[in-house]
Amino acid sequence: HFDVSRPWLNRVLERQPRLMLRAVDGVNLSIRRGETVALVGESGCGKSTVARLIVGLYGLTAGKLFFDGNDITGLSRLSGRRAAAIRRRFQMIFQDPYASLNPLWRVSSIIAEPLKFFDIETSAAGRRRRVGELLEQVGLSAADGARYPHEFSGGQRQRISIARALANEPEFLICDEPTSALDVSVQAQILNLMSDLQERHGLTYLFISHDMAVVKHMADRIAVMYLGRIAEIASREKLFQTPRHPYTRMLLTAVPSLTKRDRTRTGIEGEVPNPVNPPSGCSFHPRCPFANERCRRELPELRSVAGGGEVACHGVEEGRIGAVSESVTS
Ligand code: SF4
Ligand code: MG
Repeated sequence: HFDVSRPWLNRVLERQPRLMLRAVDGVNLSIRRGETVALVGESGCGKSTVARLIVGLYGLTAGKLFFDGNDITGLSRLSGRRAAAIRRRFQMIFQDPYASLNPLWRVSSIIAEPLKFFDIETSAAGRRRRVGELLEQVGLSAADGARYPHEFSGGQRQRISIARALANEPEFLICDEPTSALDVSVQAQILNLMSDLQERHGLTYLFISHDMAVVKHMADRIAVMYLGRIAEIASREKLFQTPRHPYTRMLLTAVPSLTKRDRTRTGIEGEVPNPVNPPSGCSFHPRCPFANERCRRELPELRSVAGGGEVACHGVEEGRIGAVSESVTS
């Protein structure tokens, strides 16, 4: 069980020490064990920020994080056994395997590092054996451990990142656009590997993506984010069959096929506004065909809707916008 709560004041201190950017706000998300929750939205909507807040790469200035009943809000600043014991239970996989693997280390050292750091394997022989097993689990061979990251393709490097993440025997993986840098054909292989590993190890995923086709392939539940807030949460079936929020509909009209080469999207109109100075009321109102006076003034809260799911939209709440009854994608 995992919560990012206390919706009203989540602020993020970005890398630049003085720029205080309100990048996520009102994100209250709960993920059940064994589930894949996808966080989707265009780039700049705050998805990666949520991931970095969870793993402690960014500091939370307000709000709370819970992991399996433990308050982990300040975990990144804590040291000691208890923090390490919790910390090893969740791991992050990044978009760019080129940047996240140390180019000067052999693959075996990269994967053995968490085994050492978390005292999972204390002997060198134990680590060697475990590294070999992990490489085989991700579709590489034990012999690949002797090579360096630059000797592998992008897809293979992402397999190495996954092996390293699994070394901790984590329960929860936060995957930030894990296949976005890869070719479409390789992308499908990595997604299938991730599904297999999930089943095999009972993993829970928070899967971050801008790509609705990828999300459709992976997620049990989907949270759509717009400008740092959740616009809609629903099961995969509900979201694709009866999208409610106007922004969700806009994203869905632009879904390319996972197998088609042509990935151009035509359905998205307008640009994501600057998060430093978001529009008043519903921040989607400048792009929304259903916007009215109330929308420009009042922030919509995320509310449960009939038939399941939650939506933050005045138009849906007022019944001005019905659910689209058939799938807008094939
Ligand atoms: Fe559109 Fe209004 Fe709903 Fe925002 S609250 S998505 S502007 S109808
Ligand atoms: Mg991102």
